[in-house]
Amino acid sequence: MFKLSGIACAAALVCGALNLTNSRSPRATEMTTSYEVGKSRITVHVDSGPLAISNEDLMQWVHWASESVTTYYGRFPVPNLDLRIIPSGGAGVRGGKTFGENDGGLIRIHVGSETKMAGLQPDWMLTHEMVHLAFPSMADNHHWIEEGIATYVEPIARVRAGHLDAHEMWFELAHDLHQGLPEPGDKGLDNTHTWARTYWGGAIFCFLADLEIHSKTNNQKGLDDALRGIVNAGGDIRRDWQLTKALRVGDEATGVSVLVPLYDKMKDQPYEVDLPAMWRDLGVERTGNTVRFIDSAPLAKTRDAITYGAAASTFSGHN
Ligand SMILES: [Zn+2]
Repeated sequence: MFKLSGIACAAALVCGALNLTNSRSPRATEMTTSYEVGKSRITVHVDSGPLAISNEDLMQWVHWASESVTTYYGRFPVPNLDLRIIPSGGAGVRGGKTFGENDGGLIRIHVGSETKMAGLQPDWMLTHEMVHLAFPSMADNHHWIEEGIATYVEPIARVRAGHLDAHEMWFELAHDLHQGLPEPGDKGLDNTHTWARTYWGGAIFCFLADLEIHSKTNNQKGLDDALRGIVNAGGDIRRDWQLTKALRVGDEATGVSVLVPLYDKMKDQPYEVDLPAMWRDLGVERTGNTVRFIDSAPLAKTRDAITYGAAASTFSGHN
């Protein structure tokens, strides 16, 4: 049984009607297969339809995403996932939607008929959808926390699993995060339901929380510890929780009070953030289409801990 509400993610959705008369794509063979990730089972169903890539390539893409989410959360977040891949028009991954089910989750994701393997390798959307599995369902006015977590965590998860370069992750963050800043008339994250405040405003909340948790724990804990704490306390997409409950559980997991007080500051008023100063402090310098890391910057160790996790950055000798 599906819950009535699902999380539709259309951050990069481009409308495209399938032009059957010009399509020379072979038809994908309808297929159902499954694999285990730890104690979880992922069942993949590929619908019949025109697709330029093989089912094997699609499965490689699915494995990358499940590996990224598992690396970040320490385990796959729900016991069962039904993943339905739906061929559609155009090229690239065309939009996904995630639902809670009784025994896990359901993701429906559209893949364009003209998509090549080179178009799946940089895809963020399937990982984004899988991150949604790892947080409880929220009331509509808190949709920003669901999208903010998925937006912020997805590239970090891919870096940690070796599927995205860290420079690219920081470039995208430094390039895009400002979109979530409050505009004149903003009434806070709970009351300003624009696309930018929902996705990138929510991501700013996550970024500020990650920085503050690292600051208060001398880089021993991060937002990842808080989010693992929430999912390990049963807070996955199958559950309807109050936002304040999730944030409290997250703060308990890190041992520092960050998420609840930050929410109080950002929920019903604009909260100004000096992002350029943060990039300087973290030693993230944009240059052309990438970034240069400045290791003498005051928060360079925090940058490494955010990127690779506190334990990994300690053991790899970055500090
Ligand atoms: Zn989403």
